[in-house]
Amino acid sequence: MRTTRAYGAQGSEKELTLRTIERRDPRLDDVAVRVTYCGVCHSDLSALHAHAADGDGLLVPGHEFVGEVVAVGDAVTRFAVGDQVAVGNIVDSCGTCAMCRAGQENFCAEFPTLTYGGRDRHDGSTTLGGYSGEYVVRENFVYHRPAHLDPAAVAPLLCAGVTVWEPLRRWAAGPGMTVGVAGLGGSGTSRCGSPRRWVRASSCSPARPERRTTPAPSGPTTSWSPPTTRTSPAPPARSTC
Ligand SMILES: [Zn+2]
Ligand SMILES: [Zn+2]
Repeated sequence: MRTTRAYGAQGSEKELTLRTIERRDPRLDDVAVRVTYCGVCHSDLSALHAHAADGDGLLVPGHEFVGEVVAVGDAVTRFAVGDQVAVGNIVDSCGTCAMCRAGQENFCAEFPTLTYGGRDRHDGSTTLGGYSGEYVVRENFVYHRPAHLDPAAVAPLLCAGVTVWEPLRRWAAGPGMTVGVAGLGGSGTSRCGSPRRWVRASSCSPARPERRTTPAPSGPTTSWSPPTTRTSPAPPARSTC
């Protein structure tokens, strides 16, 4: 077993404090990552509040982080010590259901193992997140970080960023296509900001008429149908973040 330092809340504690936690030794397909930056997601705050109310076990938030590989399992093929990597909100899944086989593990029929507050599929332990010095994770859920990207800015792309990037890519959004975003919070804003070379943002929020740049639709609207190129089953209506 490995140990590292982490910010966590035990039981009904309402604040995170620095403490020592354990990490498993890398399994055959595991990668151990020294965490260098971890994003702060609003989900972390929600989890902290909910955890304080439940008063059960240890919570270490953080599900969007980048770092450096410090150890690998014997069967790992895509990573080596020293690689710069990133990890998002999911660290494992069943790997066999239709959605997993389609590469959409976020809709795993057995529900994916989340980076924190999840249940490890091998030993049943509670996963502890990236507000820590080190994380041990299956190779399949680790991503190489492009060297030209600022590591301090990459972490949020692993949650809010990918949440909105994936559907844009999925439906081949591009010049000339009009897309809708339900809410310009963290995820929506990242959608409008990151790919701005080909996305023009406008808002029709009735709560903020001063920000309106296009008229809100009036009268009957037409329904939208997905392209016929879809190759995987429709995802169930739930989210992991
Ligand atoms: Zn998040
Ligand atoms: Zn699955």
